[in-house]
Amino acid sequence: MTLRDYIIEGQNILKEAGISDYENDTRVLAMFAFGISYSDMFMKMTEEMNEEDAEFYLDCINLRSTHMPCQYITGSQNFMGYEFITEDGVLIPRQETELLVEKALELTSGLKDCKALDMCTGSGCIGISYELKRREDGHKGDEIHLADISDDAIYVAEKNKYKLGAKCSIIKTDLFENIKDKYDIIMSNPPYIRTSDIDDIMEEVRDFEPRLALDGDEDGLSFYKRLAEQARDYLYKDGILIMEIGFDQYEEVKELLINNKFYNISLIKDYSGLDRIVTAYASEHDY
Ligand code: GLN
Repeated sequence: MTLRDYIIEGQNILKEAGISDYENDTRVLAMFAFGISYSDMFMKMTEEMNEEDAEFYLDCINLRSTHMPCQYITGSQNFMGYEFITEDGVLIPRQETELLVEKALELTSGLKDCKALDMCTGSGCIGISYELKRREDGHKGDEIHLADISDDAIYVAEKNKYKLGAKCSIIKTDLFENIKDKYDIIMSNPPYIRTSDIDDIMEEVRDFEPRLALDGDEDGLSFYKRLAEQARDYLYKDGILIMEIGFDQYEEVKELLINNKFYNISLIKDYSGLDRIVTAYASEHDY
């Protein structure tokens, strides 16, 4: 069978399984399983495929038809231009989270030896890409810490650290329990979905991504409460807290931050126009 035959077969299987982006996902899995690039794919359409690769390709298609996300099948997701390993037990890095890293880089661009913490690091995507970008920008004296409670996350973050050559320390901790230092910036994309909403989200997320990384308790706000209450003790005087939030959580998160003496609270919307990133300062200042 030719590549074209396999692509048509893959598309039919995924369409039948109700995968909405079946055309794109078939291409992604064909490139992965046959080890070909995007442009190769068009050149090789009429070529006969090797049977072993084809068997692997159909296994991938069958996994996707169970609604397993492509990123868990291929084991990777690009984030900020770096290929991150994605495995069971960690959230797949999301495009909107890149905004958090971009804003964190911008807010700390004038700082020489920056100390930064990525709290609830998961795959490590926030802290690792922040460190790599800072170093590419010529900053050499930074100290970056990545923290998570989950052993799976620590394991994947370690793998990403070595794969991407990042310079950072990874700490296993329940929020600030084992954190001893103070930081210029604390970045976090904590779990923020209301427990009662989890059953209604896409199968891909609900059945395959770790609940620990999604569930923000009854009101979805439990991590923001704990971060707002505790983060000031781990920030330098002019330190910054930057967090990703759910599209309908800004007012409540803002109030939590104000009640815990954070200042200059501001909001950044994502590319879909939804409330997404909150920044706050540990002391009052004209910024
Ligand atoms: N920091 C990771 C990410 O942004 C994991 C977030 C989480 O597990 N809630 O993808």
